[in-house]
Amino acid sequence: MVPRQVPFVAMLIVLMALPLFAQNQTQAKPRPHVIVVGVNGMELDVIRPLLLKGDLPNLARVIKNGAYGKLRTVDAPNCPRVYSTMFTSTTPAEHGVTGFLVGGITANTNMLKQEPIWSILSKNAVTVGMANVPATFPVMPVNGYMVSGMLTRGKNCEDGVLCAPKLSEVEGGEAVYPPAMKAELLKNVGDFYIDCERMPSAEQLRGHETEVIDSWLKKIDVIREQQTQLFDYLLANHPTDFTWLVQSCEDRTGHWLYPIAPYNVGYNAKINAVRPDAFPNQYIGFDKVLGAILKHVDDNTYLFIVSDHGIKPLREFEETDPHAHMDHEKTTPVIAKHDFADGDDVPGSFFAMGPGIKHDLRMMGFEASVYDITPTILHLYGIEQPKQMRGHVLTAIFESSENKVAQK
Ligand SMILES: [Zn+2]
Repeated sequence: MVPRQVPFVAMLIVLMALPLFAQNQTQAKPRPHVIVVGVNGMELDVIRPLLLKGDLPNLARVIKNGAYGKLRTVDAPNCPRVYSTMFTSTTPAEHGVTGFLVGGITANTNMLKQEPIWSILSKNAVTVGMANVPATFPVMPVNGYMVSGMLTRGKNCEDGVLCAPKLSEVEGGEAVYPPAMKAELLKNVGDFYIDCERMPSAEQLRGHETEVIDSWLKKIDVIREQQTQLFDYLLANHPTDFTWLVQSCEDRTGHWLYPIAPYNVGYNAKINAVRPDAFPNQYIGFDKVLGAILKHVDDNTYLFIVSDHGIKPLREFEETDPHAHMDHEKTTPVIAKHDFADGDDVPGSFFAMGPGIKHDLRMMGFEASVYDITPTILHLYGIEQPKQMRGHVLTAIFESSENKVAQK
């Protein structure tokens, strides 16, 4: 349980400040744009050395011009569980999407028991665009568009768990809202993969390790390139006030190609010595995606980069491996994971840049949590935080109260 961290009085002060502020700035400021970029399992242990080497120029630019730090996550974190927590700012038990499978059924949007951010924004006339965001299948109607992400079901990906159906091969629900947009995307972007490639099985790897690793990584590059084109197309042709885009191949790569040392559990030189650069390279690939997105960021745009958790080599005794279900073939030699009982071991990360956000601010400890993302975004649109939400507005990242509230 996460305590409410914003005293009611503080909210009251913000609300009271609104009319004054509105008088000064009516019509002066258009409604802000907000772009959230999700990166599944972004691991700061791997990111930081790359930043020092200058390999992530776009992320470095965001850090220099914004605020960043760790993002406290939930216990036993995995993508659907944490994303649904971010969407609703409620606990997994409250929102209902407790994992990849809920009661033996692949998690889906019909299971959400709390109102998600896209619904609240839509009701408040904010236009919404979402693409490749985990746990958004089947898509729901929004004041804009939605293209689903991880847990989308389709051909060769019947259960939707950690595999990549093509848009044309989606089954068991709609992957695009409004429905007419599907044909438009197929025509203008092509038949892109949703989510990310399934990890190979032990059987596939045995005796062909280098070949399988290389071809798998090539497929990942294709997927990332397709998704970059999708994001660029959407941002250019369907601009929305609020946009949430996600990348998921980083996490998938880390699970079996994390650059572990021989002393780590599960080390197998035939696999782990082949491409020790594979996992760091995912972030260099991500930085290019970020570069494409940054072209659409202007002075009136807030950019948030969030990850749901990190990922670490295996390092705890656990009676059963809760990660096993995530491995479709159940035989992939997984050597790193994130659903440790203590989520503090694998925190997510948070980066924010935009009008009135402090520059070069390093947030220490766990100042921000996954519960705070939606309250902070609602705040930027002047929407009051619903009572059920457990997070708080990240006031510490803003320069002053004058800058932190946008016009309705
Ligand atoms: Zn994972």
